Amino acid sequence: MNSIALKMHAPTPARKVAFLGLGVMGYPMAGHLAQAGHQVTVYNRTTSKSIAWCEEYTGAGAIKHAETPRAAAHQAELVFCCVGNDNDLAQVTLGADGAFAGMAPGSVFVDHTTASASVARELYGAAKNLGLHFVDAPVSGGQAGAQNGMLTVMCGGDQAAFDQAQPVAMAFSKAFTRLGESGAGQLAKMVNQICIAGLVQGLSEAIAFGQQAGLDMVQVLDVIGKGAAQSWQLDNRGKTMVADKFDFGFAVDWMRKDLGLVLDEAKRNGARLPVTALVDQFYADVQHMGGQRWDTSSLIKRLR
Ligand code: NAP
Repeated sequence: MNSIALKMHAPTPARKVAFLGLGVMGYPMAGHLAQAGHQVTVYNRTTSKSIAWCEEYTGAGAIKHAETPRAAAHQAELVFCCVGNDNDLAQVTLGADGAFAGMAPGSVFVDHTTASASVARELYGAAKNLGLHFVDAPVSGGQAGAQNGMLTVMCGGDQAAFDQAQPVAMAFSKAFTRLGESGAGQLAKMVNQICIAGLVQGLSEAIAFGQQAGLDMVQVLDVIGKGAAQSWQLDNRGKTMVADKFDFGFAVDWMRKDLGLVLDEAKRNGARLPVTALVDQFYADVQHMGGQRWDTSSLIKRLR
């Protein structure tokens, strides 16, 4: 179970929607759509999760689960999706059982997976050929953001498709913003991950230094968190890093996937990312330490 916090939903007309991928993120996101009064059909590769989701939200209205992405997408005005990577996304969209085969012309596919900008553009083109719309819409805010319905969503795609998705997606979002043409959402998410890589390494070095110097780092973080060193990472991860707790949050494996996308894109566009490339290798060290599923703040473990 991945329960959601109650959120006040602005009244929007009930829409027929589908949600593909009930993982750490997708499960509560789909839950917010149901609680906002939309008719939600879910699909998950492992069916037991779809069944558990339907049991949990049975009081929320017209909900059901389907056996394939195609069946879930049938008659949906909007199809939301949050799976792992480029390959997973291709598997749930394309082919005989893929969502595109079940979607009606004019309907919109909104992808919340963190994937490459190139797969977003390819699927945008494939959707367009079928008379469908595709919006790339990766998210920031983590599991807590998904559970609280407070995700920040970065979108790329046509304005008209974005306009259809935005009021519905506000069920699980704090901000849902179009940043440009197809691929722009994924590129913005890469910018986000570049920021986080440097921030977490800086915070790791600061905390390891302070502990080595014999300071009370909980107190120090309280003080410097009110000054120019403040960040979301410091506020939300600083004290758990001091306490050596990493069994929650955004997994190192996912971060390496994301930094791989960033470094590939930088090869294409010529951007120089020396610190990001180094931090990617530091995360490889954490994986070798057994930290594949640890939170990204476990970067500090290399320094202890
Ligand atoms: P997760 O818990 O591992 O869930 C992945 C979901 O995708 C599961 O429902 C899984 O189905 C499904 N899936 C994977 N491969 C599939 C395939 N080939 N065909 C059909 N379904 C497939 O991952 P998550 O943490 O929710 O993350 C999902 C995406 O959001 C990732 O791109 C991640 O980078 C991004 N993201 C995550 C966070 C976070 O804090 N977790 C934050 C921001 C962004 P099964 O249940 O059958 O395995």
